[in-house]
Amino acid sequence: MAPQIGTFDIAIAGGGPAGSTAAVLLARAGFSVALATLPPSAPRYEGMSSRVAAILARHGLPLAGIAPAAQRHVSWGEFQGGQNSEHLADRSAFDAGLLGAAQDAGVSVFNAGVSRVRPKAGEIRLADGRCLSARLLFEARGRRAPRQNPDVKRADLVGPETISIAGLAPLHASNMETSRIEARPDGWVWSAPLNQDQLWLQAVGSPATLGRTGGNAALVALWETVLGGIPLPSRPAVHAIAPRLTAPELDPLCPRLGDAAVALDPLSGHGMFWAVSSALMAAPIARALLSGKTELAREFYCNRVAETFWRQARVGRDFYRESGFSTPFWQQRASWPDNTPAHDTDIRPHVGTRVVVQDGHLARREVLITCDAPGGAAFTAGQEIVPLLRRLNGQALPDAAHFHSTVLPQASPQAAQAIHKWLLSQGFTEGAQIPWDTTNRETDPCNYDPAA
Ligand SMILES: Cc1cc2nc3c(=O)[nH]c(=O)nc-3n(C[C@H](O)[C@H](O)[C@H](O)COP(=O)(O)OP(=O)(O)OC[C@H]3O[C@@H](n4cnc5c(N)ncnc54)[C@H](O)[C@@H]3O)c2cc1C
Repeated sequence: MAPQIGTFDIAIAGGGPAGSTAAVLLARAGFSVALATLPPSAPRYEGMSSRVAAILARHGLPLAGIAPAAQRHVSWGEFQGGQNSEHLADRSAFDAGLLGAAQDAGVSVFNAGVSRVRPKAGEIRLADGRCLSARLLFEARGRRAPRQNPDVKRADLVGPETISIAGLAPLHASNMETSRIEARPDGWVWSAPLNQDQLWLQAVGSPATLGRTGGNAALVALWETVLGGIPLPSRPAVHAIAPRLTAPELDPLCPRLGDAAVALDPLSGHGMFWAVSSALMAAPIARALLSGKTELAREFYCNRVAETFWRQARVGRDFYRESGFSTPFWQQRASWPDNTPAHDTDIRPHVGTRVVVQDGHLARREVLITCDAPGGAAFTAGQEIVPLLRRLNGQALPDAAHFHSTVLPQASPQAAQAIHKWLLSQGFTEGAQIPWDTTNRETDPCNYDPAA
């Protein structure tokens, strides 16, 4: 029998941004938490959106290795020049900072490989033979987590096979001060200056272009195909990065977080956002599962992962369509996963029921579904939206002053004004009959049939 290191409320496999953030939040929520992970083995740099930095700051989590936001240069079809901004993230420092925060929050961190996660036994087995026991496990080993159901081979749940090769390169262009993203005939390139002499250079291409070549020759060939002329870095970091809906269903004994649930195309720049925001759902899900509210947890998880996967897959497809190239690399990605618009502009505001987080717990609530909030919005400015709309009794939305006096007299004028402004932004028009109906016309993403 494997020697047990301890029994915890919760044990987590994998300490990337998803696992470490979840560990901190679960420990702060009062659970005893263990986390087993291997540290990053090589340097790695990524672009972080300001939204991620803002969430981490709001939760008092460290931003180690995160540079200030800087404009990103884009060369992508008709988009040319400075567009958006991003923070350069040194992932080794960032991940180590979050792991340190987990330790500070009282998490028992085990710097060890995980050999097996056994949900039914409530055990995480470590490669050195030790074993962590817990009432609930979380799987957060990123893309290295095993697939949830290897029998599911639906082509639309895995995007086109794609490889990223990255590494340190000498910085020659003295005018390169911020990161760049560039579409090339057979792939795309992301580069970011690290200091005056060095650049992080990432080439993304398709293994399909390589034919039968294997090993290092294949890497050189792919690098050459995308970048031409520039030598392959001496210790390249190679990743398979096809977008993947790995775990569409909740395992109530071992929910998944981050890339272990949904791995997105790095082009989306949404991977770290998803990792961190999925970690925010760990404590509400744990509370629900440990108190027997499995169905609430199942519906919540299932909606979140399906929405994230489909929306980001379609947003990515639209971006691939803008590249200006029509080689096989771009054609294949411009047609996956389907032709459904990324943003449904045809949603009339209406009411449905969804499982939402309220005061840290999962609860089924009526939500307002709009183009902007297709997954449903339950609260705005601290007020529950649907009961508020019911107070209007089918009348037209009054102007801001009347909205305050008739619908929300107990709120401050500023709060009432903020909510009124939000309603206008969601498609409600002052003075006109409120265009809502109460039928739930949404399809339920939980009704996903793996055999279909
Ligand atoms: C090449 C590339 C470029 C990317 N660029 C961006 C970008 O620019 N912007 C962005 O937002 N996202 C980007 N992403 C996505 C982003 O990296 C991920 O979405 C994010 O890291 C997911 O976090 P995670 O915690 O779920 O998984 P990970 O970050 O993968 O963390 C998993 C952790 O589990 C550990 N682990 C795995 N297996 C074991 C094991 N058997 N035993 C012990 N520990 C284990 C790993 O060491 C790691 O610490 C990129 C991804 C790739 C591959």
